[in-house]
This record gives sequence, structure tokens and C-alpha cells, in this order.
Amino acid sequence: MQERNKLTPISDLGEFGLIDRLTKDVSIKQESTLKGIGDDAAVLSHSNETLVSTDILAEGVHFDLAYTPLKHLGYKAAVVNISDIVAMNAKPTQLLVSVALSARTSVESMDALYEGFQEACKQYGVDLVGGDTTSSRSGLVISVTSIGEAPKDKIVYRSGAKPNDLVCVTGNLGAAYMGLQLLIREKKVFEINPKSQPDLSKYEYIVQRQLKPETPVNLRQKLEDMGVQPTSMIDISDGLSSEIIHICKNSKTGCVIYEDKLPIDQAVYDFGHEIQLDPSIAALNGGEDYEILFTVPLKDYDKIQRYPEISVVGHILEEEKGCSLVAKDGTNIELEAQGFNHTKTN
Ligand code: ADP
Ligand code: MG
Repeated sequence: MQERNKLTPISDLGEFGLIDRLTKDVSIKQESTLKGIGDDAAVLSHSNETLVSTDILAEGVHFDLAYTPLKHLGYKAAVVNISDIVAMNAKPTQLLVSVALSARTSVESMDALYEGFQEACKQYGVDLVGGDTTSSRSGLVISVTSIGEAPKDKIVYRSGAKPNDLVCVTGNLGAAYMGLQLLIREKKVFEINPKSQPDLSKYEYIVQRQLKPETPVNLRQKLEDMGVQPTSMIDISDGLSSEIIHICKNSKTGCVIYEDKLPIDQAVYDFGHEIQLDPSIAALNGGEDYEILFTVPLKDYDKIQRYPEISVVGHILEEEKGCSLVAKDGTNIELEAQGFNHTKTN
């Protein structure tokens, strides 16, 4: 009998054995998938335009295995990528996952990672149709490619915002960033006292938003049902400030955002108070919320208002007016793109 906690080295299975094990339960749900895993290439047939996006996550740069369970990591890696398709107002349909495994990676940790990928695929109705497997001399590297489809006239770019359009955001902001601050704090506590058993139950919401984010995949359908065609759209990976600046640059416009309209959960206020971090800063300059930021024509205000999960946080201005925030005390502050920059060394 195998000892408990004994981890199996990848070499026991070999590359092909590992791929077979990880992908044996994969099922195909999308009509557009003609062939998934198992041949030299997947075969897809979309009746609409095809959208493709890819992301790389590297251990030590984008994730820390000290506090990231691998199952959550797989889930998050998939969601983060699906979010890019959602941010084009398209329907996510397929996913490819490539992994470079470090010498420390075990078969069990790959099982956990793939449980996460498969859970996300199930949750978002996406087919896992392929990938690649290789080894890494440093840490674990994960690359996810997502594919989606949308009719040409429904696709929304970053470049279509017009003066007077309303700036809208789904869900709430800042919680994932607060969750990260908490996990970093707990890691430090653990390094000093490895016997400490952190009780994170009180912080469940912010931890979950950091480790297991979701993206509003139903937004496209909701907007279609209410007869609203957004003029621009982007997903919020680096904080609202940075993302609205992307929209404004691409659309050649300015904007004004109102601090008192930012959607922020009570848990963000609570933890912000505890660590003396302004919740608005977390919402504006934090990251990894994976909510969607979009603009709609002013005439659609009444329709948008009917959805409590959508907040109107400002509006678009002419380019010369720049991008600014009206703070709670009425002062006008220039918005800055202080998004996470993974290429910057701290
Ligand atoms: P090739 O030599 O053509 O790259 P592979 O042996 O790497 O083929 O892959 C065989 C099949 O398994 C392909 O369908 C490929 O897309 C899939 N595959 C390989 N690695 C992964 C992975 N890490 N996750 C999901 N599918 C994978
Ligand atoms: Mg291969």
C-alpha cells in the first residue's frame, strides 16, 4: 500500500502517461469542438468570428505556491483567460493548457491543478481541447489559451467609447487585492512561527476573491436581452484606474470616475480598516478582480440601472479633459495607471 503523503514523481508515469492521466475525464460539450485532445491538433468549427487569447503564469512571478492551492491555481488560470474572451463580449468555448513542470512537481500536484482546470471548464461550459507538456529548470509555468466566438457586429473593442457614454462595472472591486495582502501577511507570520495555524474564516470573501476569482460570463447575454450594445469593454485585471485609461487611450477620449460610486464590498472596508489601506485605492489600483469594465451610450441608463450587479461609476469625456477621479471630498485627482506591472522589479 502506498504511504500517505508520499508523492509520485512525474518520471514514474512519463510524459504520455501523465497526459493520459490528466485528460482521461475530459468531455466535450461544445458543438463547435469537432476534435479535442488526442490528435496533432484540435479541430474547431465556429459559425461566428473566432476570438483567441493567451496568458502565461510563472511561479514566483504570478503565483506563490506557499499559499496557493494547486486546484485553485488551475481554476484561476482558466478563469483569468476566459475573462479575456468575456471582455470582448464573446462566448468562451475552448481552452488549451500548456505546462512546464519543475523537478519538484509531483503527479498528485498535477492532478490537483487539472481538477481546477476541469472545474473551471465545467463552470464556464468550455471544452479543454489540448495543450503541451514539458519540463522547466526553474519553477512551474502554466500557459492557457482560450478561444471564443461572437457575431462580428457584437464584438466589443477597447476603442469604441464616445464622450457622454456611461462607464459601467460589474460586481465589486478591491477584494482580490485585499485577499492578497492578507495571504502575504499570513505567509510572513508562518515563516516566523511555522506552528501558527491561521484562522482565515473571518476573511473568507477576500481570500476567495484572490484565490478563486470568477468572471461575469453571463454579461453578454444580459446585455443582449436588455438590447444594449456596449461601445467599449475590458476586463479588470490591473485595477479600475489602469483599465479605464486603456479604454480612454484606445478610444481617444477622457473620463471622469466618482469615488463614491465605486462598488466595494463591506469585507474590503473591514480589512482595509484593519491594515490601514484605503478601500478606494484597492479598487482603483489593486488588481485581479476579473470583473468587466464597459461603456454604454447615455440613452441606455435606465436599462443598465435595472441590474444591481452593474454599477455606473462615471462617464466618458472629450480627450482634452483627461482622465480624472472626483474624490469623496469633491477634489479632482488625475487618474494614474498604477496597475500591477509584473515586469517591474521591486
Ligand atoms: P505533440 O507531440 O503533437 O505535441 P503531445 O503528445 O504533446 O503531441 O500531445 C498529445 C495530445 O495531448 C494533443 O492533443 C495535445 O493537445 C494534448 N496535450 C498534451 N499536453 C497536454 C496538457 N498539458 N494538457 C492538455 N492536453 C495536452
Ligand atoms: Mg506536445
